[in-house]
Amino acid sequence: MDLLDPLGLATWPTGLQLAFAALFGLILGSFLNVVIYRLPLMLRRSWGETDLPQLSLSWPASHCPQCQAQLHWYNNLPLLSWLLQKGRCSACQQPISLRYPLVELLAGLLAVGLIWRYGFSLQGLALTGFALTLLALAAIDAQTRLLPDHLTLPLLWAGLIYHWLFSSATLFDQAFAGALWGYLSLWSLYWVFRLLTGREGMGFGDFKLLAALGAWLGAPALVPVILLASLSGLITAALGKATGQMNSSSLPFGPHLVVAALALLLGGRELAGWLQLTPWLEMTRWAF
Ligand SMILES: [Zn+2]
Repeated sequence: MDLLDPLGLATWPTGLQLAFAALFGLILGSFLNVVIYRLPLMLRRSWGETDLPQLSLSWPASHCPQCQAQLHWYNNLPLLSWLLQKGRCSACQQPISLRYPLVELLAGLLAVGLIWRYGFSLQGLALTGFALTLLALAAIDAQTRLLPDHLTLPLLWAGLIYHWLFSSATLFDQAFAGALWGYLSLWSLYWVFRLLTGREGMGFGDFKLLAALGAWLGAPALVPVILLASLSGLITAALGKATGQMNSSSLPFGPHLVVAALALLLGGRELAGWLQLTPWLEMTRWAF
C-alpha cells in the first residue's frame, strides 16, 4: 500500500481526483479560517495584550465571533453553510464575514488547480500544502499586517526538507540559495529604503516569507516572483487611488508576494513567457 495514497487515488479518473481535491481543499480552507482568525489573537495575547480571550487552534470549539453561539456541525460545512444561511449567523442573524467562504473557495480552487497541474503525486500534494499555507499568510497579513514566524519559518524548513529528501542535488542547492537570497534581497532593500527615507517600507515578516518562497521555488524563480509581486502591488495601488478606497502607503506587501508565487505555480510557463521571464524559470530544475 502506498502510504501517500492509501485510497489509490492516483489511478482514479481525473474528474474524480479533482472532485476529491476540491472537497479536501474546502475542508482545509475551513481549518485555515480558524488559523487566520485565532493565530494573530494568540500572538497578540502572548505579546502582553492580556485583555484578549485565551484561545488555541483547537479550543474552544468554533463559535460565532459576535454572539459566541457554538456552531453545530451543520453550521460549519465549508462554503455550503454560508450559502444556506445566506451569509448570516443562524443564532444572532449578524452577517458573517465574506472572508470565511472566500478562503474556503480559494483553498478548494488552489487544491484543484495544483492537483490538475502537478498530478495526484507527492509534488502535487506538497505544493498544495505550500499554497494553502501561503493563503493563510496572505489573509493574516491583509487583515492584521502580521506574517507570523509560526507559519513562515516552518514553511521555509518544509521547502528545504522537501528538496533535500525528494529533489536532485542541483535543485536542493537552488532551494538553499533561494532561502538565503530571498531573505537578504528584501533585507537590503529594507535598509536602502530606510536609510534614504527614514521610513520602514516593509517588515521582517516579508523577508522570511520571500525566504520561504525561495526555499520552495528555487533562487532563479525569485526574479519573476519579485517582479510579479511589484506589478500586483502597483496595480492594486493604482486601483485604490482611482477609486479613492485605500491609501497605497499602508498596503502590506505579503499578499502580493503570495499572489505572485501562486500565479507562477499555476500558470508559470505562460505567464513567464508573456513577461519575457522564461529563462529564469528554465534555470530552476523545478517543473513549473
Ligand atoms: Zn451569532
